[in-house]
Amino acid sequence: MTATDRIELPVFAQDGEATSLPGNEFPEGMLSPSTAYQVVHDEAMLDGNSRLNLATFVTTYMDKEAKLLYAQTVDKNMIDKDEYPATAAIEERCWRMLGDLWNLPDPADTIGTSTIGSSEACMLGGLALKRHWQTSRKAAGKSVEKPNIVLSTGVQVCWEKFCNYFEVEPRWVPMTEEHLYLDGHDLEKYVDENTIGVVAIMGQTYTGAYEPVKEIAAKLDEIQAASGFDVKIHVDGASGAMIAPFCQPDLEWDFRVERVASISTSGHKFGLVYPGVGWIVWRNQERLPESMIFHCAYLGGDMPTLALNFSRPGAQVLLQYYQFLRLGREGYRAIQQNSLDVAQYLSAAIAEMGPFELVSKGDTIPVFAWRRKRDANPNWTLYDLEDRLRMKGWQVPAYPLADNLADVTVQRIVVRNGLSRDLATKLLADMKSEVDFLESLDGPMPHKKRSAAFHH
Ligand SMILES: *Cc1c(COP(=O)(O)O)cnc(C)c1O
Repeated sequence: MTATDRIELPVFAQDGEATSLPGNEFPEGMLSPSTAYQVVHDEAMLDGNSRLNLATFVTTYMDKEAKLLYAQTVDKNMIDKDEYPATAAIEERCWRMLGDLWNLPDPADTIGTSTIGSSEACMLGGLALKRHWQTSRKAAGKSVEKPNIVLSTGVQVCWEKFCNYFEVEPRWVPMTEEHLYLDGHDLEKYVDENTIGVVAIMGQTYTGAYEPVKEIAAKLDEIQAASGFDVKIHVDGASGAMIAPFCQPDLEWDFRVERVASISTSGHKFGLVYPGVGWIVWRNQERLPESMIFHCAYLGGDMPTLALNFSRPGAQVLLQYYQFLRLGREGYRAIQQNSLDVAQYLSAAIAEMGPFELVSKGDTIPVFAWRRKRDANPNWTLYDLEDRLRMKGWQVPAYPLADNLADVTVQRIVVRNGLSRDLATKLLADMKSEVDFLESLDGPMPHKKRSAAFHH
């Protein structure tokens, strides 16, 4: 044995780095931890820089103290409430704080939970509406065969999943040029005795628009007066529920509106936590049928659980609590207002560039979209601009609007904490030079067939 046999080879000269690894077959042998680390790290590096990803709503920046806390608490499982009673208590404190933020009328009589994200929270919100409807229909001796839910075609894909997985008929209210979101018009055509509820989106994924919860509720009041159907609202506040309380405090969209039965949000969007945490809070315990709660004893103690997942990270819940304590209303207001200011700075400059028309300007949630002017140069599309910006590291997705408006292509920017005004100025400079390049083409940009991409 020579001395070099006992000394590790330099990392990129080891097996696995210097040779190719199997792609799909389960590996036979082992790698040293340092090589395995390097291989995974390096491949993930090709994902691009998350901070330049202007497509996602999900947090890509947290303080170094939060990162430290994260590293120290990655081993906590949220479901082990008996072993980690402190984490469980913090979870409850978080959803109670959210109830407070969303103006719950009676903080003593409420219930909520953390989830893995808004999708799971929306499923729970939808299921509670369905169970409530079933219970009252059964009590009245009526059929529970055909539940339906009323929602805009501009909803996030989780609602299509809810309807598909839990067998509820979606009653789609189309997005049109006149009604870009659910606003209550014609609602009586969609609601009937089988309607379990109406979904209102605070911060539509496509454009950032707020659906006017108060107007939708007023329309449902009229419907109830005329027909007797008492239809409640779930507010999908994935983004807006963590923006409106700080930056649009006078907008009544939350539990101040009596028809709102439940509200969900993504802790990992404008809740400012790394992915995966979401939240749902019900107006009162009556809105979450007891039959949906499981009492689980085998981890020790009697632990009520009502989420779809069992095990999931507890660290994200602790990070949420960190943000609530660290920032408070004042800190959240400062951060979200800054994102709104950057969004409006960007949207105003993009509107000025010439070929574009704003679909929204970033004054609801800090998200806005634009389309090309109808008489714009036919040599290029927003997909070309997306490609050109990607060459410079920016991810700015172009995509079709929903349904009736599927022939309208828009491009969207989500401004998150961490897209500073300075960085935004650099983005604008890159956009301008790419637009100039595209405008200077002699003929149409060549196109490959595009696969359908989703940017929800
Ligand atoms: C992002 C989003 C969702 C899904 O949230 P996840 O946290 O990604 O599961 C649902 N609804 C709306 C309006 C969203 O923006």
